[in-house]
Amino acid sequence: MNTILIKQVSLNGKNVDILIKDNIFKLISSKIDIKTERIIDGRNLAIIPPFYNMHSHAAMTQLRGFADDMPLFKWLNDYIWIEESKMNEEDIYIGTILAIKEMIHSGTAFFLDMYWFDRQIIRAVENMKIRANVGITFIESRGEKEIVEKIDFINNFKHTSSLINISVAPHAIYTCSKDLFIELHKVAKQNNLKFQTHLAETIQEVEDCKKAHNNLSPVEYLDSIGVLDNNTILAHCVHISEKDAEILSERGCFLIHNPCSNMKLSSGCFNTPLVKKYNLNVALGTDGASSNNNLSMIEEMKFAALLAKHHFKDPALLSAEEVFLWATKNGAKAVGINAGEIKEGMLADCLLIDLNNPLMQPNHNFISNMVYSADGSVIKTLICNGEILLNK
Ligand SMILES: [Zn+2]
Repeated sequence: MNTILIKQVSLNGKNVDILIKDNIFKLISSKIDIKTERIIDGRNLAIIPPFYNMHSHAAMTQLRGFADDMPLFKWLNDYIWIEESKMNEEDIYIGTILAIKEMIHSGTAFFLDMYWFDRQIIRAVENMKIRANVGITFIESRGEKEIVEKIDFINNFKHTSSLINISVAPHAIYTCSKDLFIELHKVAKQNNLKFQTHLAETIQEVEDCKKAHNNLSPVEYLDSIGVLDNNTILAHCVHISEKDAEILSERGCFLIHNPCSNMKLSSGCFNTPLVKKYNLNVALGTDGASSNNNLSMIEEMKFAALLAKHHFKDPALLSAEEVFLWATKNGAKAVGINAGEIKEGMLADCLLIDLNNPLMQPNHNFISNMVYSADGSVIKTLICNGEILLNK
């Protein structure tokens, strides 16, 4: 593997040399004099962790701009699910490649995906050398044969690369029964895999859940069947009560906030005050490109901060520093990857940011500039697992 020496790069406002050996940050020091295969001049660059996109349907880039400006269930039933049913394996592969290219250009080194034709997603990830966790996705109406085949695939999954893992992903409580949720949670536990689902995305979902399950909220319902724990990753969680927050805190679940998708589909506003009160684990995701319509985690950070400030009428509610951690360190933590920070011994995932870019000037507060001012043009280099995937 490559050895890369980055000279005099700004790390938390201080200029340092950083040695990447194999796939880890081997040494960080004020000066490193070692002969290496590759030296990067880090002057006028800052080093930060890349983004970890914790909720995506990558291949939905195929549906970018296809159906806009309508509510979630109409959007799903009348447009998205019909069009998705026509997609073949090659469509999924090409859509995922397109998504990964966009993610790399916007600074993302990892995505947690949930979609169909998982083998094609894995093939695309292998070819692009990005990190990913591919959710093996279940919808009950697709039939018992598919469920059995997917569980068999999970039980016999062999790692082809340290960059790729799989997770068990029942789509939602309105597409998978109680018995299927319980069975899939067992499969995840037996195989030591993460368990992810969509939850509490809309008010309609909460009301339908209460009607169907003895007045239990979606969080209470999943807790009552024993599938919430610290391996559970819940996309959206827009509509949660104080009692839900207590449960999510006790179980140690990760909540994935998708502000752009929630705003575009008018699903509601993520309850940042409650999440902060209970110190819940939160990371950020873009959701699919059909409800965003891009995969930029920089935009996602800005929208998360602005949405919280606007909705709860409190400009101090969510700072740039907090939302930056949601997009970086917390994402890596949610899937148990030893990355998301620039520290010796951690996996060598990083971005080099062009401090001379007009969007980054003046540099009163670097993180503020990254969250509120930057776009993808400020990213000069993306390194994932010690490999340079982007260098402009
Ligand atoms: Zn989603």
